Amino acid sequence: MDLIPSFTVDHTKIVPGIYESRVDTLGEELATTFDVRMRFPNKEPAIDPAAMHTIEHLVATYLRNHEDWKDQLIYWGPMGCMTGCYIIVKGRPAPSDMYPILLEAFRYVRDYEGDVPGATPKNCGNYMMHDLPMAKWEAARYVDYLEKADKDVIFTYPTTERLVLDDEQTFYDS
Ligand SMILES: [Zn+2]
Repeated sequence: MDLIPSFTVDHTKIVPGIYESRVDTLGEELATTFDVRMRFPNKEPAIDPAAMHTIEHLVATYLRNHEDWKDQLIYWGPMGCMTGCYIIVKGRPAPSDMYPILLEAFRYVRDYEGDVPGATPKNCGNYMMHDLPMAKWEAARYVDYLEKADKDVIFTYPTTERLVLDDEQTFYDS
């Protein structure tokens, strides 16, 4: 079995950001999958599954109701490794085109008050596994990161040494 493309990216060099993960052709149409990376893989703790579940519900709700994006969105959901999410959209927008809408969506999570949409036994397969306060905290952290981050860095998978984190720069020294 071959490694699928997203596994061949060197995860020791990935920093949080928005990356084009793959582009698929469906007949005449393109569909683009973006790696919405929220954590430094293997260098800081992954996102708690309950917080991630809530982020999934809230961002999905936001995007599926968004005038400009509801018809472009094919899929939104968390990565199994819990360090980010995937969004699949029609066409081939650039990561920088996804930046404003993702910022909007994560600000929506950050500022959200009330019941988590769809968190009921009828609408969700694990409705008690939600954590809105942590989802808001994670969203605030990611928004802050995206706003401040070097835009030359967060839209292109790292391939150069300058992006490699030294051992001294890890969040948890062993
Ligand atoms: Zn659910």
